[in-house]
Amino acid sequence: MREDWSELQDRIAALTVSYGAQHSDEIERRLARAGVRPADVGGVADLGAVPVLAKDELPELQAADPPFGGMLAVAPGSLARIHRSPGPINDPQGTGADFSRLRTALEAAGFGPGDVVLNSFSYHLTPGGLMLDGGLRAAGCVVIPGGSSAIAAQTEAALAAGATGYTGIPQVLLTLLERAEESGRPLGFARALVTGAALPPSLRARLQDGFGVDVYQAYAAADTGLIGYECAEKDGWHVAPEVVVEVLLPGDDRPAAEGEAGQVVVTSPNEVYPLVRFGTGDLSAWNRAPCLCGRPGPRLAGFLGRVGEGVKVRGMFVHPRELAVALGPDPAVVRYQAVVSAEGARDVFTVRVEAAAGRVIDAAGLAGRIREVVKIRPAVEVVPSGTIPDEARPLVDAREE
Ligand SMILES: [Zn+2]
Repeated sequence: MREDWSELQDRIAALTVSYGAQHSDEIERRLARAGVRPADVGGVADLGAVPVLAKDELPELQAADPPFGGMLAVAPGSLARIHRSPGPINDPQGTGADFSRLRTALEAAGFGPGDVVLNSFSYHLTPGGLMLDGGLRAAGCVVIPGGSSAIAAQTEAALAAGATGYTGIPQVLLTLLERAEESGRPLGFARALVTGAALPPSLRARLQDGFGVDVYQAYAAADTGLIGYECAEKDGWHVAPEVVVEVLLPGDDRPAAEGEAGQVVVTSPNEVYPLVRFGTGDLSAWNRAPCLCGRPGPRLAGFLGRVGEGVKVRGMFVHPRELAVALGPDPAVVRYQAVVSAEGARDVFTVRVEAAAGRVIDAAGLAGRIREVVKIRPAVEVVPSGTIPDEARPLVDAREE
């Protein structure tokens, strides 16, 4: 199974480069600059010769060559829609059903024919609403296009239609459930697919245990469509079957070792908008342990932050991923947050940690391990359990406040 999966990934990589070189000016230019001939790329390993295109480069590319920076592989007049995301970035949508391939994630979450689903992503300008809508329709579901309507209006619509499921961000789901319960008419959502925002374990527990909603995550972006999705094990994201995913260390773009945080880089053979080594700017890590569900291939270990979240401390960049490397393996540490503050002209680097139940943190040892990785010795401060929120950013620059 595992071999089949890597072979498929190799085929997608070769196909995307060969198709992209013919139909995307941007891909053709990038390959030429790197001296890579399309025939040189026979698999994922050969992608290493191609420089990564960062998502952050799109606004400039698109402004210089509107509307798609030479990345569109079809005539603009053949598109179904043109969305606009923050950046600003223009996002093309082709005419095919389920253009963003969300169906895989929805079916893994148990959505299917007979489900009536409230989709609370905006349908206006940004692509989220129609991305999910396309996937839901392809999975045979009835869609209530809640979009960005008021919470009360969405609740009424879901109650009136007997909605069985929800798609949107998890925080809106919680608000809908709480308001409906307060009004004495609880919503009948059996399942939800959430994406577009973090799902801290405490929020998932509240939605599942407090309201009985089976919550699954999808990892998708406007440019790439579906990248990863959860199975019933809910332990990381399986890679969407149609794309190649690499996890590369920011800076030198070497493949990250298992468990090491790096940028999620996507190669997608989409006929309308092919992407070769597209840097999402998101950080994740590989988990190569086989999944109990039996699906082949490694999983992404959730969202670990954004590239560029590095903070300069005493002239050195400290990155959330380095903190994860230093602190992640310590079983005594259940939560942590690094804070950079100023004492006069001096930067103060403090790492606050919470101990796991029944464990004692060796603060001096921990400070030494952090120093080995980030090259700056922190003050390690052990704080009481519950001090650091689940959704806290791992690295905060408090000098601007
Ligand atoms: Zn699985």
